[in-house]
Amino acid sequence: MLSTISKIPGTPDHMVAKKIAIIGGGFSGALMAINLVRNGGPKAILIERKPVAGRGLAYSTSHEAHLLNVRASNMSAFPDQPDHFVAWLSSQGTPASDAFVPRALYGQYLSDLLAEAKQAAPERLEICHDEAIDIALASNKDPHEVTIQLKSGTRVNANTAILALGNLPPLTPEGLDPAELGHHYIADPWSADLTQRLGDDDDLLVIGTGLTMVDVVLLLDEYGFKGRITAISRRGLVPRVHGASTTDLPPLAERPKGEITAMLRMVRARSDLIGWRAAIDELRPFTQAIWQAASETQKLRFLRHLRPWWDVHRHRLAPVVAERIEALRGAGRLRVIAGRTQSFRLQQDHVEVSWLPRGSGETKHGTFARVINCTGPQSDPTRTHDQLVLSLVANGLAQADALGLGLAVDSQGHLLSKGDKKNTALLSLGPMTRGTFWEITAVPDIRKQVWDIARRLSNAHWVGGEGL
Ligand SMILES: Cc1cc2nc3c(=O)[nH]c(=O)nc-3n(C[C@H](O)[C@H](O)[C@H](O)COP(=O)(O)OP(=O)(O)OC[C@H]3O[C@@H](n4cnc5c(N)ncnc54)[C@H](O)[C@@H]3O)c2cc1C
Repeated sequence: MLSTISKIPGTPDHMVAKKIAIIGGGFSGALMAINLVRNGGPKAILIERKPVAGRGLAYSTSHEAHLLNVRASNMSAFPDQPDHFVAWLSSQGTPASDAFVPRALYGQYLSDLLAEAKQAAPERLEICHDEAIDIALASNKDPHEVTIQLKSGTRVNANTAILALGNLPPLTPEGLDPAELGHHYIADPWSADLTQRLGDDDDLLVIGTGLTMVDVVLLLDEYGFKGRITAISRRGLVPRVHGASTTDLPPLAERPKGEITAMLRMVRARSDLIGWRAAIDELRPFTQAIWQAASETQKLRFLRHLRPWWDVHRHRLAPVVAERIEALRGAGRLRVIAGRTQSFRLQQDHVEVSWLPRGSGETKHGTFARVINCTGPQSDPTRTHDQLVLSLVANGLAQADALGLGLAVDSQGHLLSKGDKKNTALLSLGPMTRGTFWEITAVPDIRKQVWDIARRLSNAHWVGGEGL
């Protein structure tokens, strides 16, 4: 058993002077543990419910077809060492800088970094495979500030708890009853065997047309599935493709002024001069500041009208992936439609689905062997079944942000509990902080957030940092 955790009921919990519990060992949590070690920070325990820590949802895939959607040159784990990932690739005999390499390779990079941190400071980093289900603040008399309840019955005491939970699972589409559809419905494409009981030329319905749909379609193709796939979303927008590298463009000198919507008008105008990809990319260093300066009304307007457009232009496909998707569309094996699903009924061995095409008043019907939920992650803590998030919201330690995009945090990542009270012992990282930062989905943004917080917690933020 781990030295710093104890069973309940049992002997008093083992205390340490300063200790950080990181809940979630995906990219964000593992990187936090790595950064704490690199900065000579406090002891840390990394709690991950899956058997492997360090890869998370995005980088656990072993499929070669699943490529990074960011060039290797922009995927370093450390903002102060931009060439770190490219150097690691070279050390593995796969030099690549402008390339979109397999996500599995990136998972290996993260695993290596975590193992390296553990080896460098075994007494300062523990990895615990368990699920956190509740957190309580300690009373004034206790030397620690938080107690984390694990599913196994174990409790972990720490001075600070950092939530690195990733996204919450997607919502069930309206009108769909998973119990009625049984094996004909796949709620989580990441954890299911997509081809089980599937005929080679069946018809499939994928709900969602974003990056998750692309992953699933590539996987089915790789498994030899020859049937037809229909993908549906409200607007039917598919992620755009990356162009040639834009790294030679001079960066924007300063943050553009004005409202979010004015900003997007500016992107359109700049698109005419430098192309839409460059126009979107050059805004990136300022996106968080623009978001934070915007009023709630502006943010809501952006989410309602522009988010789908932003998402497909901002989070793009590697060219080889886009080519495969185009080829499948060209061959009639993938059809993308814009519309809103209405009902799902099990009829003998198939699901009859009805949907309303966008801009039309005439309901359409189709019959599918399987319906796969690729609506993508959601982060509204009030609409989840996640036990930890539910209990944090119920006991008032956490609350949803005003936009329902995640947990309410301040600009330093501290959780805002009920009544907007800042709690310095509880922090959150990554996609669940989207309401405050908006652009906090991909590696280049999360690595900076993690780096800043780790250095603050290690008291290294005001001196020059020392690497491992
Ligand atoms: C399919 C996919 C592809 C992507 N591709 C790219 C890309 O190419 N480039 C890029 O820059 N970005 C990419 N991203 C975005 C980005 O890198 C990820 O969203 C990022 O990895 C988020 O990491 P995370 O640790 O916050 O979340 P996750 O990776 O989801 O990790 C969260 C972890 O927390 C654990 N956990 C949750 N709750 C508990 C609990 N209560 N107790 C214990 N453990 C818990 C989970 O098991 C999980 O391992 C991709 C994202 C996805 C989903």
